[in-house]
Amino acid sequence: MGLVDGKRALVTGASKGIGAGIALALAREGADVAINYNSDAAGAEEVAGQVRALGRAATTIGANVREAADCRRLVEEAARGLGGLDILVNNAGITLWEDFFETDEAHWDATIDTNLKSVFFCTQAAAKIMREGRWGRVVNISSGASRSPFRRATPYNASKGGMNMLSVGLAAELGRYGITVNTVGPGAILIERTSHEMEDYGGHFAKATPLGRVGYPEDIAGAVLYYCSDAAAYVTGQVFWVDGGLGLGVGGFSEDKS
Ligand code: NDP
Repeated sequence: MGLVDGKRALVTGASKGIGAGIALALAREGADVAINYNSDAAGAEEVAGQVRALGRAATTIGANVREAADCRRLVEEAARGLGGLDILVNNAGITLWEDFFETDEAHWDATIDTNLKSVFFCTQAAAKIMREGRWGRVVNISSGASRSPFRRATPYNASKGGMNMLSVGLAAELGRYGITVNTVGPGAILIERTSHEMEDYGGHFAKATPLGRVGYPEDIAGAVLYYCSDAAAYVTGQVFWVDGGLGLGVGGFSEDKS
């Protein structure tokens, strides 16, 4: 018995990184998965192949979640492809770095539209389908930056802080239909993109983290699976910080001089 046996899940931004890890974990626990991508069709196909190798159905859907119309089309195609929709993971996101005074309107709009507006419109479209069956699970991938801001990424911090509040608002709206809405707040997760953010990203955050290592997509997927499982039937409107203790702000044990 898997944790999400027979469920139909859509993961946005699942062509790589954390989203790919979530898609595979859902498949491993028994779900069929729709894999959304924006630019990386080949990455999405690779993830779909891995899902099928696990014995589950997979479909790939190109859609730019910055556009509300594309969010609606994405959700409708996912439900058509999978024969229904039980789980939506709003994972797609971008992290743009820029000096505060150099940050322009295009940067602000790209960040807020991709990371925040998309969550509203994907969830609205998905909830219309989920409410028919009076069961649904929506999981939003936020960030530790929603409580401890990054410098040079103020729009990103705002997008993720907004996502946390959007999530509780959606939880309040959708509880009556048996739909839960919860959030995961990742710490530093080692993926292809972050590996280029600094030299030895993994080693740096291993030192800064109480649990003594960087995070991996599987760590985030574990929290998503919990929210989607029967164990979380009575859980909605929550933020689950999955960061090895990074957000506690005390540093890692290797920095402990006592
Ligand atoms: P990646 O860059 O590896 O993955 C981002 C994914 O989002 C890709 O699949 C990309 O698709 C997709 N995406 C970007 N823009 C759009 C768009 N307009 N429409 C549809 N899909 C889009 O990064 P991560 O795996 O790190 O990011 C996943 C989530 O995790 C993000 O929300 C991020 O903010 C969050 N997060 C990550 C942390 C980390 O340390 N890695 C820490 C905290 C939060 P494609 O490549 O096909 O264009």
